Amino acid sequence: MKEEINWDSLTFKFIEPDSMYVAVCDLGEPWEEKGIVPFSSFEISPAACVLNYGQGLFEGLKAQVAADGAAVLFRPAENAKRMQAGAERMCMPLFPEDRFVEAVRKTVKANLDYLPPAEKGSLYIRVCLWGTGPMLGVNPAPSYMFCVFVSPVGPYFKGGVTPIKLEITKEFHRAAPRGTGGVKAIGNYAGSMYCSGKTKKRGFAEAIYLNASNDRYIEEVGTANFFCIIGEELHTPKLTGSILPGITRDSVITLARDILGITVHEREIDYEEVFEADEAFCTGTAAVISPIGSISFDEKEYVYNNFEVGEITGKLYDLLTGIQTKKREDPYGWVVEV
Ligand SMILES: *Cc1c(COP(=O)(O)O)cnc(C)c1O
Repeated sequence: MKEEINWDSLTFKFIEPDSMYVAVCDLGEPWEEKGIVPFSSFEISPAACVLNYGQGLFEGLKAQVAADGAAVLFRPAENAKRMQAGAERMCMPLFPEDRFVEAVRKTVKANLDYLPPAEKGSLYIRVCLWGTGPMLGVNPAPSYMFCVFVSPVGPYFKGGVTPIKLEITKEFHRAAPRGTGGVKAIGNYAGSMYCSGKTKKRGFAEAIYLNASNDRYIEEVGTANFFCIIGEELHTPKLTGSILPGITRDSVITLARDILGITVHEREIDYEEVFEADEAFCTGTAAVISPIGSISFDEKEYVYNNFEVGEITGKLYDLLTGIQTKKREDPYGWVVEV
């Protein structure tokens, strides 16, 4: 282990692991496995396509210690499939689904020293696909690298779940219609930092983006999917292509429908409708289910549930985290051992 880790003070700061997984390929050739290698910097041409034109994708998932002590992953094959869809869109070679899951397993196993104990956090797993070969014209790179590394991270909510304050922005958009918002293309993220920074300076946790064509419909909360409860029903923006299809989003929809028996609407949600909602939350691997305490727009703040976790939000949180940590039965086979 490279550094002594204090499990009680974990945040989202990068902690360097021992090793990483690497595979490389030339365009049109099969992937060549380098396997587990020491975690280190590597050389790349200044003319690399990923550095000049952003031909890259990432995935994020996590390993954690379940109630029975096993190290587990949550739906890793879904991350593999999503990266394949992204690779198609970004003109990169697809990395096979079974090899993706195997690479994740190998990387976690090689770095088990970094897996936080139960309740102390999780091992964040970052999977990257880059066009590393040199390319002057705007064309797909001649060669590629697939890489998996990990870093221990603290629990998203230290000292209990606290509802967050958000702000709707009409100043910036996250993704364009028919652009690359629906895949985890690296270039989608740098552009959101400016808006996110401005929002945070004003005291909000994140910005809520609206659709780019008419500034009416909710898209996403920074890098998390949006949900709200109106009456007894669950509503979430439908996947139009500019919204990232979150695996947590899909899991929440399934649990709400199958287990809680709630009607779920995937539709266009006008931002003015959410001012009247009963509960709101956002979802993602890191955030799991983050309750929204208030949404501000145009100098007005709309508060949900007096800044307390809503009833349905709480039920969904308990269900999802219960399944993820094997405290509850997993009827879907979502949780797999490392
Ligand atoms: C990764 C991501 C999410 C959440 O996806 P999960 O699979 O639930 O982690 C949501 N929105 C954006 C923009 C993302 O990049």
